[in-house]
Order: sequence, then C-alpha cells, then structure tokens
Amino acid sequence: MHVDGHCLCGAVTYEATIDPDRCAICHCADCQVNSGTAFGFVVHVQDRQFHLRSGALKVFVKTAENGRVRHLSFCPDCGTRIHAHTPDQPDAFFGLRVGSIRQRHLLRPKRQVWCQSALPWVFELPTITKMVAQ
Ligand SMILES: [Zn+2]
Ligand SMILES: [Zn+2]
Repeated sequence: MHVDGHCLCGAVTYEATIDPDRCAICHCADCQVNSGTAFGFVVHVQDRQFHLRSGALKVFVKTAENGRVRHLSFCPDCGTRIHAHTPDQPDAFFGLRVGSIRQRHLLRPKRQVWCQSALPWVFELPTITKMVAQ
C-alpha cells in the first residue's frame, strides 16, 4: 500500500510503501516515553521503501538491553517521530509511525505487543467517556 505523510510543522514530508497486515500497537516502555503517550502505533515499511520528499530527519540511536540497536528518526524542528529501523538488519521490522501517515484512518492494528508493560487502563478504553470536542 502506497502512503504519504508529514510531520507536525510540515518540514518533513515522505512517501512509503507499507504492509497494512503488519500494523501493530507496541506497549513497551520505550514507546511510551518516546511517544509521550500510552503506546506506539507502527506499520512495517515494505522493502525499505521509504522516501523523504522534503526536510531532514534527526536520528537518535537507541541500544536496547538485549543489545539490539534501533535508529529512531524524527523531525528536528517539531519533534514528530517518523520511523524506527535497524540499519544493519534489512529484514528487521521497519516501523513507520502511523500517526504521521495521511491515510492513517485506513489502517487498523493487527496485533498488540509488549502487553506486559501496557498502562493498566489501556484495555478499558472503549468504556471511558467519549466527547467529540472540548
Ligand atoms: Zn516538523
Ligand atoms: Zn515499543
């Protein structure tokens, strides 16, 4: 599936080819802190088909406890997270942050991972009072 997207300030724009069947929610602690919210929501970029159309990305290199290195890329001006991948492992999950994708309303998560560190209320979301606007 071909998608395009942008960061919050608009400096970074991109196009990518994704696999909608590999769309996931990640409840790991790194995703909570890095996103500043409850969980990460990512989709796999197929065959590393991610193309920056404008702007530049800044990379934070994160080494996990298991030694796995991930490059977390974001807009240096507004901080919007764009993608995360492992450069020396072409077959590793290449996670494009779904929130920055223009077609995000068409994407649904297929699974949730790292559920052991999920925030306690997150699986009760449908029961929490819903408002349309403030
Ligand atoms: Zn930006
Ligand atoms: Zn995560």
